[in-house]
Amino acid sequence: MKAGAIASLLFIVTLAIGTFLVWSIVPRIGAVASMGPWMQAFTMATVLTVIMASVIVPLGITLDRWLSRLREYLQNLGDPESSATFCAPGWLKPVADSFTKAIEQYSEREAMLRNQLREIEINHHVSEAERRQIEAVLHALRDGVLVTNTFNEIVIANERAAEILGFAVDEATHQPIDKAIADEALCRMIVDTRDSGNTRDVRHVEHAISPDPQHGEPEVSYDVTLACVEDHKQDVGGVVTILHDLTREREVSQMKSDFVSKASHELRTPLASIRAYVEMLVDGEAEDEDSRQEFYRIIQDETDRLGRLIDNMLNISRIEAGIVQIERENVDIKESINRTIQTLEPHAREKDIGLHTKLAAIDLCVEGDKDMLYQVVLNLVSNAVKYTPEGGRITVSADSDNLTRSVVVTVSDTGLGIPPDSIPKLFGKFYRVDNYKRIAKGTGLGLSLCKHIVETVHHGQIGVESKLGMGSRFWFSVPMRYAGSQAAA
Ligand code: ADP
Repeated sequence: MKAGAIASLLFIVTLAIGTFLVWSIVPRIGAVASMGPWMQAFTMATVLTVIMASVIVPLGITLDRWLSRLREYLQNLGDPESSATFCAPGWLKPVADSFTKAIEQYSEREAMLRNQLREIEINHHVSEAERRQIEAVLHALRDGVLVTNTFNEIVIANERAAEILGFAVDEATHQPIDKAIADEALCRMIVDTRDSGNTRDVRHVEHAISPDPQHGEPEVSYDVTLACVEDHKQDVGGVVTILHDLTREREVSQMKSDFVSKASHELRTPLASIRAYVEMLVDGEAEDEDSRQEFYRIIQDETDRLGRLIDNMLNISRIEAGIVQIERENVDIKESINRTIQTLEPHAREKDIGLHTKLAAIDLCVEGDKDMLYQVVLNLVSNAVKYTPEGGRITVSADSDNLTRSVVVTVSDTGLGIPPDSIPKLFGKFYRVDNYKRIAKGTGLGLSLCKHIVETVHHGQIGVESKLGMGSRFWFSVPMRYAGSQAAA
């Protein structure tokens, strides 16, 4: 209720009491009693007006002012910047003081609660952010992660764990592991780890898991890491299980041993040849100067081949390891092609092979490593020369592809062509078409190196189309500017 309304009510009540008192007292006064009724009424109204004007109205106004001030004071109590004060009259002071004290206590308590609420909100935001970070980390992991609580129920599992073990994350959360996971052996391992109670122990077990054993899905080997999680009392609060797929590591180690055996085989062939010719020279088996010169030439060829083999192996493994030194510059592809043609022209002429170019009249520049791109063009054209019989024709063309914003180089020959089953293996390390080994010497590493240079170093593409007996068309494309350089620019 507003202070004005209270004052008006007070005024009306006082008026009513005053009227009643005046009405019952004034007519008893002798002088008034002798007056006529109209005079009596007039006298009583005058007395009432005087009383009202001198006592009740000032009282009402003062009360209204106090109430207004009190209202203003109460309204501004919560506002720390307000300077509103309330001076209560003496008789109201004890009530006003205890009222003010209660309100101050309430304000302090309210401020404290507000601070607590703010702290709770901040903590909530922090833990929410942490939860999201953990979820993001778990989601990004290639390993399966499963966390179970002390009752062996799933608390956290990432998508990879669900994929490996064949369950749905949403359904499995808070489920006992033996209900969610079909792999009994793994469930037993988790329960055993939980029961061991050893929070410092981390176990590694190699274990084969099938995501759906009932439908005969093949088993995959995993390195399973099991570790106890401590709770706030430093007891076992659960178990964290990490499933690491061993397939890729096995493949890599298989690839490494294949590479070593192929590389040693390829190195042994020229070495054996060099050793044989050197022995013959030492034993004096080359009787005349012509034979000796022939032996020297063979030794030189084989040494060159050894050198090429080692260079190619090193270049490929440097690119694969990401440690190759790349000299980026503006490379004019037409210049690389012309240089290649100049180098290989004599070889082509020896075999009566026509070496032609079809180069677009526009600028064909790409951003890349000049020597490496020259190496690609040289390898493709030298292969074309090697595997094209006498009288054949080789055409090297280059143009820009506006759609992909790249430069495309094509080397077409009218040579032997490539058997269809060899095409998918052609860019692999040490691959050589069996029947062509007699036709030309090679390392089987040239195309592999080209693929690495084009795709890994220059973010381009390389490919081949071929018809056996009709010839081959090797091509590669390199972006004029690739995304990495644009970002850096
Ligand atoms: P190499 O040193 O043996 O030439 P490459 O990696 O350059 O090694 O080539 C791999 C194999 O691909 C070659 O051994 C050859 O059998 C085949 N090949 C490459 N280019 C051609 C081509 N233009 N025509 C026919 N076969 C080719």
